[in-house]
Amino acid sequence: MFELNGKVAIVTGGNGGIGLGMARGLAGAGARVVVAGRNREKSAAARDELGAGAIAIDVDVTREDSVASLFQRTVEQCGRLDILVNNAGINIRKPPETLSLAEWREVIDTNLTSAYLCSHAAYPEMKKAGGGKIINIGSMMSIFGAGFAAAYAASKGGIVQFTKACASGWAKDNIQVNAVLPGWIDTALTRRAREQIPGLHENVLKRTPAGRWGTSDDFNGIAVFLASSASNFITGATITVDGGYSIQA
Ligand code: NDP
Repeated sequence: MFELNGKVAIVTGGNGGIGLGMARGLAGAGARVVVAGRNREKSAAARDELGAGAIAIDVDVTREDSVASLFQRTVEQCGRLDILVNNAGINIRKPPETLSLAEWREVIDTNLTSAYLCSHAAYPEMKKAGGGKIINIGSMMSIFGAGFAAAYAASKGGIVQFTKACASGWAKDNIQVNAVLPGWIDTALTRRAREQIPGLHENVLKRTPAGRWGTSDDFNGIAVFLASSASNFITGATITVDGGYSIQA
């Protein structure tokens, strides 16, 4: 039920953090993983670690031509596409009144428009394969707001609604589309947040019932579940992977 032998998966931002955790889960279950990122050194290291026929392809998920080339090269080199993880993301932490239009666009393009571009490019290949699995990465900011995260929260709220719309539109093609909402996970992204937001580390520990930050490997299992036939009747769902952060009053 959980095996992914013969399946091909693209993971955007699969060269580090949560994306690499998901890539490890998918490769461990037998999928051939395409690590799609900008930083060649990180991508090559992830590819080498994953093994099992993994390849690395450069992409800037904000650019339509770059995304088109990623999908074209994936199909040329791997022959098919079954799984897409829309994970690449950034944050620019500033109060809304000082966030410039260019910064707003950079965050929305990287976190939300990228999911549209990649899903749009994946659809014909998944349809051809007789079905597919798309996993979009949201955030606690898909549910909550924060004064330092206007564009980020807008992008992550948008991811949830985009997930539901695609799930509804593509159910007829046997494509399941779901969103994962991580809590506070120890990655490069949040290492910077810990430096920028006083008291963040202690607040996360205090509020998270599990009493710890998440790790990238906390995402191995959810990736396999949502990419495998075990989740064939689950679509349009948002699943928190947060140690209970979002259920704590
Ligand atoms: P990282 O900074 O470790 O990873 C972000 C990834 O996105 C990198 O692999 C980076 O690749 C890639 N990326 C960024 N911009 C682009 C771009 N324009 N084109 C291609 N790839 C790009 O952070 P996380 O692992 O923490 O974040 C992964 C996802 O999880 C993000 O969507 C984030 O919003 C989300 N998330 C993270 C949480 C956390 O606590 N860490 C909590 C909730 C959500 P490269 O280095 O090659 O540019």
